[in-house]
Amino acid sequence: MKPFGYLRATSVEEAVRAAAGRPGARFLGGGTNLVDLMKLGVETPRLLIDVTRLPLADIEELPDGGLRIGAMVRNSDLAAAVPVRERYPVLSQALLAGASGQLRNTATTGGNLLQRTRCLYFQDTSKPCNKRSPGTGCPARDGVHRDLAVLGHSAHCVATQPSDLAVALAALDAEVQLHGPDGERTVAMTDFHRLPGDRPEQDTEIRPGELLTAVRLPPAAPGARSHYRKARDRASFAFALASVAAVLEVQDGVVGRAALAFGGLAHRPWRARAAEEVLHGAPATEDTFARAADAELAAARPLRDNAFKVELARNLAVSVLTGLADPAAAR
Ligand SMILES: Cc1cc2nc3c(=O)[nH]c(=O)nc-3n(C[C@H](O)[C@H](O)[C@H](O)COP(=O)(O)OP(=O)(O)OC[C@H]3O[C@@H](n4cnc5c(N)ncnc54)[C@H](O)[C@@H]3O)c2cc1C
Ligand code: SF4
Repeated sequence: MKPFGYLRATSVEEAVRAAAGRPGARFLGGGTNLVDLMKLGVETPRLLIDVTRLPLADIEELPDGGLRIGAMVRNSDLAAAVPVRERYPVLSQALLAGASGQLRNTATTGGNLLQRTRCLYFQDTSKPCNKRSPGTGCPARDGVHRDLAVLGHSAHCVATQPSDLAVALAALDAEVQLHGPDGERTVAMTDFHRLPGDRPEQDTEIRPGELLTAVRLPPAAPGARSHYRKARDRASFAFALASVAAVLEVQDGVVGRAALAFGGLAHRPWRARAAEEVLHGAPATEDTFARAADAELAAARPLRDNAFKVELARNLAVSVLTGLADPAAAR
């Protein structure tokens, strides 16, 4: 057991002050990821700053019709919230597709977005891993990588981003609100998680000592439908092999607004801009949806054992979009 300090913060300012200039400090949300990583020796914080008592556990209506979700809102509460279920079903479905009931009761919005990759080598301190120990190498590239990235990976890391919530938020054009030693700032969800490049140790754009305080959702587009679907090795308690979050608006058989994001394919939620370009203004048919998925997935660079994910993602996207365009025909 490695000794560490514990501080229960009562205000955002106190939490941020406690973390400032202390690289060994970690914010503690529900602890469902951080405490596991501490037991494995992957994380060895010197100070845990418990942020679960901060006044950040509310879901607020915004004047523009959007929602502000406090970082301490538990995953179960967020999935069950009536405005979320009614106006952003993709978000509720993504949360319910993640983890288990017990975990969702404990896990927080902020912690979910900042959970670390499930790459086996990252979690095993007897193995090299560029993400855990920069410069040691990436054994997953030639090793066990069936679950890992097919898009946007680098020679340094082929890990995937594990959060289902993040994928739905990327499709919804959400923003993340941060509070750090230099004040407050907002980052678009699509820019928050990074591609690995040559710095895989950095999962997101969060700066040292910054606290994630809230997620802001823009108003739901009137007339748009949304859905999340996830393919995994078993029906619960498993991370995505591939997932799709989609928001689609169809008028007179033609696609108006379309937003699509893939999960389980990359180091960040993969917003499918090339697919959206194909979709916009095109007939809302299965053929269009297949062309859109193909346009996006043409960029895929599968590894030795995970090419199946490309076809899986394509089929998920076509199926979800077809169902949104014509719920009666949903499969
Ligand atoms: C068996 C199992 C299956 C799972 N399956 C899924 C799944 O299918 N899909 C899925 O999405 N998730 C899954 N999870 C992961 C689970 O959702 C996460 O562990 C959980 O969401 C993390 O939230 P937390 O509040 O417990 O975070 P914590 O463990 O407390 O923190 C996680 C990280 O975020 C940091 N942090 C926490 N809060 C803040 C904040 N406000 N600001 C800045 N940093 C912060 C911590 O320092 C830590 O680095 C699974 C977990 C397990 C154990
Ligand atoms: S894929 Fe990334 S997390 Fe996994 S071993 Fe390689 S560097 Fe580490």
